[in-house]
Amino acid sequence: MSSDDFHPGLGARSKHPDLVSRAEGLGRDLSAIEERLSKLETRYDELRMVNLALWGLLKESLKATDADLIDRILKLEAACAKRGGRYVREPRTCAACSRAVPEEKPTCMYCGAALQRATPFQGT
Ligand SMILES: [Zn+2]
Repeated sequence: MSSDDFHPGLGARSKHPDLVSRAEGLGRDLSAIEERLSKLETRYDELRMVNLALWGLLKESLKATDADLIDRILKLEAACAKRGGRYVREPRTCAACSRAVPEEKPTCMYCGAALQRATPFQGT
């Protein structure tokens, strides 16, 4: 009986260093993904709380109803569904060079001109 038989993990490491290295790399990738997911979940919870607070304020100050909000959501979802089910921002035109640039860019990627904020949600 060799030492590899007694400690199969160590045997695998010496016999298949490429596989072990790849598995370690995948483990690091998984850890990074889990960390990013955790941050996104925290951010989601924070944004959900902000939305609930804002909706509460709007209901009180504008006398809006849940039906009003649901109507808005359905209209937005319908608009998004027309673009493959995702909200895709319309590109805008650079005032300096007239080229189409993505909505979220602060400067034109062609000529470098500063772009005016297109919407309150720019960059979100
Ligand atoms: Zn430009």
